[in-house]
Amino acid sequence: MSHYDLIVVGAGIVGASCADEATAAGLRVAIVEPGPIGGGATACGMGHLVAMDDDPAELALARYSLRRWEDHADLAEAEFSRCGTLWVARNETEAAGIAQRVARLEASGGEAEAVDAQALYRLEPALAPGLCGGMLVAREAVVYPPRVALHLVRRARQRGASLYAGRAVRRLGRATVTLDDGTVLAGPTLVATGCALPELLPQLPLRPRKGHLLITDRYPGLLHHQVLELGYASSAHGTAGSSVAFNVQPRPTGQILIGSSREFDVTDPAVSGPMLQRMLQRAFDFMPALRGLQAIRAWTGFRPTTPDGRPYLGAVPDSTDLWVAAGHEGLGVTTALGSARLMLDLLQGRPPAIDPAPYAPARALA
Ligand SMILES: Cc1cc2nc3c(=O)[nH]c(=O)nc-3n(C[C@H](O)[C@H](O)[C@H](O)COP(=O)(O)OP(=O)(O)OC[C@H]3O[C@@H](n4cnc5c(N)ncnc54)[C@H](O)[C@@H]3O)c2cc1C
Repeated sequence: MSHYDLIVVGAGIVGASCADEATAAGLRVAIVEPGPIGGGATACGMGHLVAMDDDPAELALARYSLRRWEDHADLAEAEFSRCGTLWVARNETEAAGIAQRVARLEASGGEAEAVDAQALYRLEPALAPGLCGGMLVAREAVVYPPRVALHLVRRARQRGASLYAGRAVRRLGRATVTLDDGTVLAGPTLVATGCALPELLPQLPLRPRKGHLLITDRYPGLLHHQVLELGYASSAHGTAGSSVAFNVQPRPTGQILIGSSREFDVTDPAVSGPMLQRMLQRAFDFMPALRGLQAIRAWTGFRPTTPDGRPYLGAVPDSTDLWVAAGHEGLGVTTALGSARLMLDLLQGRPPAIDPAPYAPARALA
């Protein structure tokens, strides 16, 4: 039986970040991943690095993580592009809330500015007429998440991590794991299996939340920022069975990534024509020029969603040397690096830089 200081189960962006962080701290690490590195939710997302301000705990984790992303800004593998985020107000009611949102982001250590309608159209001339200004967060960025996960796993391996590829963890024991080929590994274990979490830890409730995305052919110069409607948070954090929100991203290639939808209680990964249509109609309402573009591909992915929308980060209650980092919903790329640092602090008994209490897995069992 091989012994490790840490066994990381799952190599999505969260597990990969944890493995990277652990090897940087000198730990002897094993990584277990049945599929491609970063091939789960991590390969399906938009890769927008964004601070959402409606939940103070989530904002603290995002802010902490965004600072850590700056270390990757010049990394070719990350395809880091500092396009900035432009939030758009559809009406005066949404515009009236902007000052408060700017204040919240700035209080958390970020930089944001309100823009009036004139400035909005200077920044993004293709937006539909009649919008009421918005908020610019100029330093936010986008990355290509599966490449980041691959880079982090490679770096962990260069520091000595063992990769158990093509194999899944079937059973968790007392500081041991059994793989599907019968191999047993021993050591503290960190479960980072995203939507598959209930298979190993059914006591931690988690639901998959389906999302659609579509990518277009190349149209350099049409879109400059990641542009979202200010109402996006109510789609992201609402509990509606299904919702769509305007969210578009300029890829460094000139392609435009169009999102996004959210659906609970759907497990079929097939692209749904009606849902895609609803999502695109929302996008066309905000940016009519999108209607004339050539689509290349549409796909879906599942966001790992906890009942309160916050990830589980910490020790699994009533267990021995068992840890979890999962349930990051639609922000797991943004918050992966901060989550990993927080996990390492907890594992090594140091006080984390941000309060870990809001993410404690024990809250699920309270
Ligand atoms: C449509 C969509 C858009 C998104 N947009 C963004 C965005 O713009 N910004 C952002 O920050 N986030 C975004 N997200 C969210 C983000 O993609 C996820 O939160 C994040 O990728 C979750 O990473 P993870 O490592 O927890 O899960 P995953 O990437 O799913 O990784 C889990 C891994 O565990 C492995 N695994 C499963 N079971 C086992 C087992 N028994 N043994 C070993 N390994 C196992 C799987 O094979 C998988 O590779 C989006 C998500 C979707 C679906």
